[in-house]
Amino acid sequence: MSEEVLINVTPQETRVATVENGVLQEVQIERVKYRGIVGNIYKGRVVRVLPGMQAAFIDIGLERTAFLHASDIMHRGDENHNGELETGHSEPIHSLLADGEEVVVQALKDPLGSKGARLTTQISIPARFLVYMPYGQHFGVSQKIEDPEDRERLRQTVAQIFENEIQQGGVIVRTAAESAAEEELRLDVNFLQKVWQRLQQRIETVVAPGLIHEDIPLAMRTMRDVVRSDVQKVRIDSRETYNKAINFAKDLIPEVVDRIEYYPGERPIFDLYSVEDEIKRALDRKVPIKSGGHLVIDRTEAMTTIDVNTGAYIGRRNLEETLFKTNLEAAQVISRQLRLRNIGGIIIIDFIDMKDAEHRRQVMRALEKSLARDRTKTFVTHMSPLGLVEVTRKRTRESLELTLCEPCSVCDGRGVLKTPQTVCYEIFREILRESRQFDAKEFLIIASQIVSDMLLDEEATTLADLQGFIDTPVHLQVEATYQQEEYDVVLL
Ligand SMILES: [Zn+2]
Repeated sequence: MSEEVLINVTPQETRVATVENGVLQEVQIERVKYRGIVGNIYKGRVVRVLPGMQAAFIDIGLERTAFLHASDIMHRGDENHNGELETGHSEPIHSLLADGEEVVVQALKDPLGSKGARLTTQISIPARFLVYMPYGQHFGVSQKIEDPEDRERLRQTVAQIFENEIQQGGVIVRTAAESAAEEELRLDVNFLQKVWQRLQQRIETVVAPGLIHEDIPLAMRTMRDVVRSDVQKVRIDSRETYNKAINFAKDLIPEVVDRIEYYPGERPIFDLYSVEDEIKRALDRKVPIKSGGHLVIDRTEAMTTIDVNTGAYIGRRNLEETLFKTNLEAAQVISRQLRLRNIGGIIIIDFIDMKDAEHRRQVMRALEKSLARDRTKTFVTHMSPLGLVEVTRKRTRESLELTLCEPCSVCDGRGVLKTPQTVCYEIFREILRESRQFDAKEFLIIASQIVSDMLLDEEATTLADLQGFIDTPVHLQVEATYQQEEYDVVLL
């Protein structure tokens, strides 16, 4: 399989597209906004120890001094056997820290208002599958990995790799590692080992107070993540990011340097393989299938439903064959859409009914086979007699839809609007009610263009009858900014 990664960089955002055999499979987007300092590692200096509060103020080079509580001070032998920090230190803070002392810390919370950042000395460095804690000593597995066999296998594999490669510190196995191969975990360990070596050099050379390490941005995380995969080429359309990527790779993952290319093309990089169009389409509710049918993808809070539909015209002669073919294609399109849209949680697929049991088996096989290529773990149930299949897919990052969209403010996320006719009738009822309650000389309706048009055309007779009935003139004013459902009835 030929795999390629395209990275599009603008001052506002970085977008990473993974293309397999010329077809877009995955998109990741990171927008530049206030990033905060959580996760940053600093060499700080103790400004003042506060024995009464069991805490200390630390200068990390920010405007406001940061705060380190005794319970966030970690030293060897401080963990209990579950790998958790023991709280309720018996040791008083002034025996742990002294004024003027240098201390390596990581930000736990951003500064807020007059409060300084909250710090910890338990340094943790995240990678794709693992979080390394150089000063820790225990091995934990994310609680979201539920299968006890998976947990045990991961714990043993990672412990073994650590034993051979690093021999120091503790580690947490992240949820993403659930279906990771041993080799992928090993690459993660190697990466973390190198990052930690660089960090140790920085710890020695940086003068307090100073920044030692910042979280890795998306473009660089991508370099880290392509090591393990079949990616032949990474193309970046920004000279600056390209240079950074090359340096990052030379330093930490030399095996990918040859695969990184600068893309100077006149054509926008996301025009290659129609990536831009594909991203737009990945927000549509309706997805066409080659044989003429289509999928309808709907998301609710509880689940996502995918309805498989046949094309409009299907001959009678080979009906079962056509349905079978549509379902087969749908199975592939669905697994790609799940990945592209990054849909997690429960997914209910409603395949078209098929009489032939062998056809049903083959559709299920096709679905399972194409889902197997997904790096995010999925679980598939049997097909119910009505053709329903339940898929669960781990939730990782936010879905593409939630990254790029918000609920519609016009319909309030319902997805439907009251028809202009319904709005007209609401207006008539309101005028009637108000004419009984108040003694109006005139009424003024302020409504959207489409509702106004209807009041002047299809509903003109009803409006005239109403004016006669209440014996009061009703005027109309178009408000271009009003949405279909919006209107005012004003008494004059
Ligand atoms: Zn809407």
